[in-house]
Amino acid sequence: MAFVVKKFGGSSVATPEKIYHLVDRVLGEKKPDDKIVIVVSAMGDTTDDLLTLAGRITDHMPKREMDMLLSTGEQISIALLASAFMERGQKAISFTGFQAGIRTNANHTKAGIMEVKADRVMKALDEGNVVIVAGFQGITDEGDITTLGRGGSDTTAVAVAAGLKADICEIYTDVDGVYTADPRVVPNAIKLKEITFGEMLELARLGAGVMQPRAVEYGELTGTDIHVRSTFNRVEGTIIRGEYTMMEEKKFIIRGVASDSNVAKITVRGVPDVPGVAYRIFNGLAQENIAVDMIVQSTSAVKEKNDIVFTVTKTDMADTVGVLEQLKNEIGFARVDVEANVAKVSIVGAGMLGNPGVAARMFGALASENINLDVISTSEITISCLIAKEDEKKAVNVVHRFFFPNEEK
Ligand code: ASP
Ligand code: MG
Repeated sequence: MAFVVKKFGGSSVATPEKIYHLVDRVLGEKKPDDKIVIVVSAMGDTTDDLLTLAGRITDHMPKREMDMLLSTGEQISIALLASAFMERGQKAISFTGFQAGIRTNANHTKAGIMEVKADRVMKALDEGNVVIVAGFQGITDEGDITTLGRGGSDTTAVAVAAGLKADICEIYTDVDGVYTADPRVVPNAIKLKEITFGEMLELARLGAGVMQPRAVEYGELTGTDIHVRSTFNRVEGTIIRGEYTMMEEKKFIIRGVASDSNVAKITVRGVPDVPGVAYRIFNGLAQENIAVDMIVQSTSAVKEKNDIVFTVTKTDMADTVGVLEQLKNEIGFARVDVEANVAKVSIVGAGMLGNPGVAARMFGALASENINLDVISTSEITISCLIAKEDEKKAVNVVHRFFFPNEEK
């Protein structure tokens, strides 16, 4: 008997035909005593359409009401999907996040899952149902509906799999696994058979769009294996798990190249060189929930002044400048410069630990194409370089070629 949670995105349920296609595939692979839970997103572009609709009422929709609105998308798809299973003669039942016992904090529009009380789902499975759970939504202790941030159905699926202690969580997407680079950018990218949670989390965080980083985090936290695979075929995809089980990882020093152009570079110039200043700047940003990355401080040309450089997502750029302008007089820095035409190219892999020369190889690759490096930052298993946005595609390709040379055609 297999016990599987399968997550399908909005494009897999965009039309009634696609819904039946999904149902027939699931039933075609299901053995009689398999336990199957399906987590599903809203149909097609429903969530975007709801956002547009909200924008026609107000630019400042209260987040609680936004969640009330956005969560309706998934409620449509679960009812249709459950009914399609029944139409094919398979017992099925749909549950909202609330009914599936998905308890979250009250951080509306990007709520975190606190716990999954899956008793009702388990009971329905034991009664022979295929259980359909609405992705992307949960319920607070007060009984308010929350949503988990864009792409949040991935996180629902992993959390439900963990709550049920299912064998595996399968994420069905339009790519058939995790690649060493985005195959649309690097045609020769290689599909990985497996990758660890830690490496996948870094890749997702640094721009690989395959999965919501939160979902990977949840998998790591609960030890739930995740199988990323294709909606269109039955080929084995990539398994994200705690440890490698095959020898594949020995072949390459790094596991992937990622890039992200949703970044902006912020330079705070002429910051007084006294204790507590960095604290005041970054605490101010933290208060506004702005995540910063790539922090570098360097001595300025002016005596006893520093320049502090960091990156934020482009979406947080305006808020960041707002916070800094408020601090300007209090701290007494000279000015803030903003550069939005940048991209961050990163390599990820636990193999770089204890492997000298990995950074040099990356810089050599970029130099060979005459790409200028701006900020550089590293962690245990990542190296990131900020470059001009126009060089992004070239950079990803040359770095990939330097690290995966034999695999290229
Ligand atoms: N429907 C939500 C979104 O579009 C959640 C998801 O697709 O995972 O972001
Ligand atoms: Mg979606």
